Amino acid sequence: LLLPDNYDFLLKYKSKKEFLDSVVDNYSDQKEFHQAVEEVIHSIWDTATSSEEYCKFNILDRIVVPDRTIIFRIPWMDDKNNVHVNLGYRIQFNSAIGPYKGGLRFHPNVNLGVLKFLAFEQVFKNSLTGLNLGGGKGGSNFDPKGKSDKEIMSFCYAFMNELYRHIGRRTDIPAGDIGVGAREIGYMFGQYKKIRNAFTGVLTGKGTNWGGSLIRPEATGYGLVYFVLEMLDTRKDSLKGKTVTVSGSGNVAQFACEKLIELGAKPVTLSDSSGFIHDPDGITQEKIEYVKKLKSVRSARILEYAKKFNVEYVEGKRPWSIKCDIALPCATENELNLDDAKQLTHNGCYVVAEGANMPSTTNAVHHFINQKILFGPGKAANAGGVAISGIEMSQNSTRIPLTRDKVDGLLKEIMQRVHNTCVKYGKKDDFVNYVDGANIGGFVRVADSMIDQGIV
Ligand code: NDP
Repeated sequence: LLLPDNYDFLLKYKSKKEFLDSVVDNYSDQKEFHQAVEEVIHSIWDTATSSEEYCKFNILDRIVVPDRTIIFRIPWMDDKNNVHVNLGYRIQFNSAIGPYKGGLRFHPNVNLGVLKFLAFEQVFKNSLTGLNLGGGKGGSNFDPKGKSDKEIMSFCYAFMNELYRHIGRRTDIPAGDIGVGAREIGYMFGQYKKIRNAFTGVLTGKGTNWGGSLIRPEATGYGLVYFVLEMLDTRKDSLKGKTVTVSGSGNVAQFACEKLIELGAKPVTLSDSSGFIHDPDGITQEKIEYVKKLKSVRSARILEYAKKFNVEYVEGKRPWSIKCDIALPCATENELNLDDAKQLTHNGCYVVAEGANMPSTTNAVHHFINQKILFGPGKAANAGGVAISGIEMSQNSTRIPLTRDKVDGLLKEIMQRVHNTCVKYGKKDDFVNYVDGANIGGFVRVADSMIDQGIV
C-alpha cells in the first residue's frame, strides 16, 4: 500500500475550528457550503482524527474539495427573439464509491456555494443508501417561472449542449431537483440522445415509456415518510392520527403528503415562496391531486388552494407556527430557523424530518438535538429519491423494468438501511443523534474507499 514515510502533515490542524476556518478562508463567498461542511465536520471530527489511516491519507483536506467543478455559459433565445445568457454548473464532488450522481437545480438563487453544499451533502447521502453512487450536483441560475414551454425547451437544449461532454452513464448521471421535473429531464434527455446518437440511462427521473422507473417521482416524499416511521418505531410510536406540518408544494411535499394520508396521518399545511396555507381539517388525496395539477405550472401559487378550499392563507410566512406533532420541511435550504425550531417544540412537535436539503439552520438543528426530539437530517431522511434513481440505473442496465410493488419494497428496504446506519453510528445511551449517525456512517464508507484507491 502506498503510504508516505514521513507524516509531517499528519493532523496538521490543531483543532476543529482551525480546520473549519481554513475552509472559510479558502471559499470565503460560499456560505451555504461552509454551513454544510461545518455540520459534517462537527460529527466526523473524532472519527477522522483518531484514525492514523485517515490522517496519513489526509482524508479531511481531500473530502471537502470537489474532484472537478465545471462552469459554463448557456446562451438561449426567448419567444420574442431576445438572447439571454445564464450560468451552468456541474460539481463532480466525489466518485470513490461510484459514478457522480445528484440532481440539477434551475433557480435564480443558484450559485457555486449553493451547488457545492448540495454536492457535498450528496456524497454522504449516496453513501448511506448502500448503493454504488458517488456525489455530484449541478444546475443553473435560470428562472423557470413565467417561461413558456418553448422557452423551457430551448433552455434545456442549450444547457445540454455543453453538459453532454461531462456526463455519461458510467461517469455522471444527473437527475431533477428544484425547477427540474419530468418535463425538463425529457428535453435534456432528448438533446443528449441527439448529440451522442445513443440511448443510454444518462439521466434519471425519465418518463416510464423511455426508461424511467416506477415510483421515482414519489420516491423522495414516500421515502421521507418511511424514514419517519422508522424513527417513530424506536419509541414504539406510529403515524396514526398525527398532525403534520409540511412546507413546500412541489415534488417532495406532494408525495410526502400522499403517503402521510395513506398511513393515517393528517397533513395540515403546504407552502411556496409566497406564503403558506393552513387546512386544519387535513389535506386529503383529492386536494393533493389538485395541488399536483396546480403546481405543474411553475408560476402557480399555493394561494389558489386557499381560495378553492376556503382555508387560511398566510402571506410571506412559513408554516412553523402551526401546532403539530411532526414537521416536514420540504421546500428549500434554511427555511426553518432557531425561532421556528423553538416555536415548534414549544407547541409539542417531537419529530422533524427534512425532505429538503439543509432546510434547518445550524442553530435550529442544535435546538432539536438539545431537546432530544427525533430529528432526521436531509441526507438520511430524503435519500429515497437518489436511491430509486440508483434502481432506475440498474433497470436501464438490465433493460428489465421492475413492478411498482418491487420498487416500493426496495425503497422501504433502503430507508430502513439508512435508518439502521444512523442508529449504528449515532446512538449514545438511549438517544439517537441522527445527524452524527448519518454523517459518520456516510463518511466511513467513502473515506475507506478513498484509502483503497490511493492518492487520486
Ligand atoms: P420543486 O421544484 O418540485 O418544489 C420546490 C418547492 O419549494 C416549491 O413549492 C417552491 O415554491 C418551494 N421553494 C423553492 N425555493 C423556495 C424559497 N427560496 N423559499 C420558499 N419556498 C421555496 O422541488 P422539489 O420538491 O424537488 O425539491 C424540494 C427540496 O427537496 C429541495 O431542497 C431539494 O433539493 C430537495 N430534494 C429533492 C429531491 C427530489 O427527488 N426531487 C431529492 C432529495 C432532496 P415556489 O413555487 O414558490 O418556487
